[in-house]
Amino acid sequence: MTATLMDGVAVSKSIRAQWKERADVLKLQGLTPGLAVVLVGDNAASQVYVRNKVKACGEMGLHSELHQFPANVSEQVVLARIAELNASPKIHGILVQLPLPPQIDNTRVLEAISVEKDADGFHLYNLGALVTGGTVFPPCTPYGVMALLDYYRIPIEGCNAVVIGRSNIVGKPMALMLLARSATVSICTSKTRDLRQYTSIADILVVATGKPKMVTGAMIKPGAVVVDVGINRMPDGKLAGDVDFDSAKEKASYITPVPGGVGPMTITMLLANTVQAAERFAAKSLNMRKDQSGTGREAAALQK
Ligand code: NDP
Repeated sequence: MTATLMDGVAVSKSIRAQWKERADVLKLQGLTPGLAVVLVGDNAASQVYVRNKVKACGEMGLHSELHQFPANVSEQVVLARIAELNASPKIHGILVQLPLPPQIDNTRVLEAISVEKDADGFHLYNLGALVTGGTVFPPCTPYGVMALLDYYRIPIEGCNAVVIGRSNIVGKPMALMLLARSATVSICTSKTRDLRQYTSIADILVVATGKPKMVTGAMIKPGAVVVDVGINRMPDGKLAGDVDFDSAKEKASYITPVPGGVGPMTITMLLANTVQAAERFAAKSLNMRKDQSGTGREAAALQK
């Protein structure tokens, strides 16, 4: 069997077109959705990710701002900038590119972002709300994986889903989202005793370990849907995923390539979250105006 490719570039194009229409509606009302990206230091990979995100905003006609700081910046300076961005009416989504340098506390910075502007979905509230199903913004990478599965009409309910990796930004939210769709979910980590015991029963296998090509075709159930979140720079300069694509594609029914699979979907869902944040902002402003005119009418009636 040779697997069908889950093409993140093509799916992104289609999803971005839908969100662009929604952004255009807002722009007709005088509101351009805006994303602020905060970048600290000169990590080469982070700079590439940030550049791609800013470029994608431009392509969709969104406003974007890059707020860049040197690696030795203090936490207070970053927090002060986030407070300004929280208050800015031009900004509806705020993203802090991780990792941050050691003098800055990741959690404090992520929690300083207003929940309504947390376009990356990493705020403790948004992550915690995944447990109860009440998220404001789902984290972009697992959200992108779900969108990809849905685009290819992969049945999720009742299937065995295995997620390898338990990071707060990929593995754990991924597992919760699959669980919310009634998959039977297992989470594997570096401490899992017999990884193959899990991978071999997975109808859907999501791999997010940062270990290049660690999942091979021999570990996969025939016909499985394999989603490779990993992005690893190999010694020859090429990118590779956490799945050995060549052997896995012979066993899987569907598989994501690296690059061109989950990566573009992550950026797409960031744009989606930003537009949605702007829509909520517009709806809230409208309600406030209605409330104010209602209060005004009540006050006028009382004066009569
Ligand atoms: P982390 O390093 O935070 O987490 C890696 C996880 O993998 C850990 O839970 C770790 O287990 C587990 N793990 C490591 N080795 C093994 C192993 N041999 N067997 C089983 N589990 C293992 O990584 P992230 O979640 O942040 O990222 C994972 C990958 O996804 C990276 O390649 C990253 O670049 C990529 N990524 C891609 C994105 C995209 O848009 N496509 C977005 C974000 C990340 P333990 O907890 O026990 O240490």
